[in-house]
Amino acid sequence: MFNLPDLPYDYSALEPYIDAETMRVHHDKHHAAYVKNLNTVLEKYPEIARKELLDLITHLDELPEEIKTKVKNQAGGVLNHNLFWEFMSPEKSAPDEKLLTALTSVFSGVDSFREQFSAAAAGFFGSGWVWLVFDHGQLKITATANQDSPYSIGQTPLLGFDVWEHAYYLKYQNRRPEYISAWWNIVNWAEVSSRFLAAQTSGR
Ligand code: MN
Repeated sequence: MFNLPDLPYDYSALEPYIDAETMRVHHDKHHAAYVKNLNTVLEKYPEIARKELLDLITHLDELPEEIKTKVKNQAGGVLNHNLFWEFMSPEKSAPDEKLLTALTSVFSGVDSFREQFSAAAAGFFGSGWVWLVFDHGQLKITATANQDSPYSIGQTPLLGFDVWEHAYYLKYQNRRPEYISAWWNIVNWAEVSSRFLAAQTSGR
């Protein structure tokens, strides 16, 4: 059985950048549905249902063929959203020195990183996610379609941005670029920094 984690802050904590109603629908309806659907898919597979989420996502190829795609979609949806709430915070923060150095060396600075990440998010076609990942020692901006997880292809997500319309449509409608620029105000750089440190330590 997989559970829906509580938000790490109030529904209204990220206002005015993300409104309480969007957070409520996003967490209580969309995220909750992925959890519910995953549990339903695994009802007849109690041994698989006992695995850790990360274990499922990193070993999709080991799953029975008839549930592989469903687990990829639903477990991906659960895990991506578990991470997404942690990637945001009402507390202002900044990249720590190690991350700052790395972003500067790979992307020519934090501003330039932000521009490249934003361009990837603005240009992404359809539903999916844009990521900063740690890929075998390399920092990269990537994107995945639907609820696919970077973990499934051996990458560790350090930051992820939900570009599904359900993440912004109530407040921003079709103005995705406005949602993107607002979002930078609530990025949890402390979390990104500590994930970067952990990824460097484990080497992936
Ligand atoms: Mn979402």
